Amino acid sequence: MAGMPRIAILGMHLESNAFAPPSTAADFKRLCFLEGPAILVEARKAAPAMPLEIPGFISELDRLGFAYEPIPVLVTGAEPGGPIEQVFFEACVAQIVDGLRRGGPIDAVYLSNHGAMTATADLDPDGTLYSAIRECIGPAPFVASVDLHANLSERMIGNVDAFVSYRTNPHVDQRERGAECARHIVELLSGGRTWTSLVRLPLTPAFVSLLTGQGPYADAMAGAEARMAGDAGLMNLSVVGGFVFSDTPKNGLAVVATSRRGPDHARAEARVLAHAIWSDRRRFLRQLTPIREAIAMAQACADGRRDPTIFADTGDNPGGGGRGNTTEFLRALIDNGVTGVMYGNFVDGDLADQAHAQGCGKTFFAEFNRRDEDAFGRRFSVQARVAALTDGQVVGRRGVYGGRSLDLGPTAALEIGGLTVVVSTSRKQCADPAFFEMHGLDIGKASSVVVKSRGHFRAGFDEYFPPGRVVEVDTPGLTAPVLDRIGFRNLPRPVFPLDLDAVWP
Ligand SMILES: [Zn+2]
Repeated sequence: MAGMPRIAILGMHLESNAFAPPSTAADFKRLCFLEGPAILVEARKAAPAMPLEIPGFISELDRLGFAYEPIPVLVTGAEPGGPIEQVFFEACVAQIVDGLRRGGPIDAVYLSNHGAMTATADLDPDGTLYSAIRECIGPAPFVASVDLHANLSERMIGNVDAFVSYRTNPHVDQRERGAECARHIVELLSGGRTWTSLVRLPLTPAFVSLLTGQGPYADAMAGAEARMAGDAGLMNLSVVGGFVFSDTPKNGLAVVATSRRGPDHARAEARVLAHAIWSDRRRFLRQLTPIREAIAMAQACADGRRDPTIFADTGDNPGGGGRGNTTEFLRALIDNGVTGVMYGNFVDGDLADQAHAQGCGKTFFAEFNRRDEDAFGRRFSVQARVAALTDGQVVGRRGVYGGRSLDLGPTAALEIGGLTVVVSTSRKQCADPAFFEMHGLDIGKASSVVVKSRGHFRAGFDEYFPPGRVVEVDTPGLTAPVLDRIGFRNLPRPVFPLDLDAVWP
């Protein structure tokens, strides 16, 4: 290469839930759609509104004093939702290809990707994107990072020189993984050579069993760490749990090895770890708490018979494509007169507007799901008092949103009997105490807290609720983790735990 290496910076993030409405260009433009130099400007902000791998990647190259010419092209992402609209996906790929051609010759590419995207006419658009990038750049080093809930295809792994997935769930290591990718690119640009290998298991665990703090997935991750620590030939060993609701033939927990020693070494490393996980598969079976039992627990909390507890409305996690508007558990809390509960966050822009029109301190008939009633989000009215109103601008305080600028749209905190319900306009999972604190609410004073989140809330709320005081409630919705209730069409079968007799290899 002549002069400084030219490193392209790309990002595309969507976790697709096949059962949710399609994700549109507007969904991406609302959350994150950065082109060209704007990517570098955002990445250097104190609280960037973008996937944190990108600032992690850039600041690591800065820290290393590595001289390069950045070619920022496109970084975009939407909240988890349905498949991306095909036309918009193809426009993004065309924009990336065009940016790589104009910015060329490209010496290396970093792609920050979620890895569980589907498109309305393509079940493996991430693979399509990786292939298009490879076609553009020839043999130049290409390093990609993905979310721990990625669904991996051979096309994705076959096109990269090094592959890195998050190692934490809740995800708090995005910056670190971006930094790791920067080091791999530096090594590859200095002449390092690598080989990748993918092993996918017929295993689609429900998300509630994919925590890295404890349990079988934590053990798998520890196994990967130990193998990497003991083998300088192993550049990376990643374990992705997958996102079962994408409903694709490439679903399944997968292990990816990046080796400095050769293809056989990469394959052997991936297989050894995959074997250990497969032998452990029964530990991925998990029981949830029925709503009726959860209500009894919340009542015990309210009466002081039980320590304050956090309840996860697992069936309606906006972080997995849920709409944030299901009412079954909320209605049960109201109907049973449970007190001292802080509930966040119900996604209903109409209701937030209604509260803003009333003003703080006013009492009115709050109409939930007035405009958007659906199978899980039923319409109902109840008397409520407006306790607080905000414009929804907040910087995350802890966990997955820590240090990130968030826009919840106009919000309201409504007092309904003994409950305080935070209502937001934008769809975002309640993973940070800031969602309550921005309304002047003190979580330390709640008898219990209910969150529309599946697992990421743990990293935000653990200062109040250690793992023993977390209850995962079996609620209906687009992300209900009881897989045999879902009408999957494209999953590879047999697959564990839907088919308990699935075999591998
Ligand atoms: Zn994830």
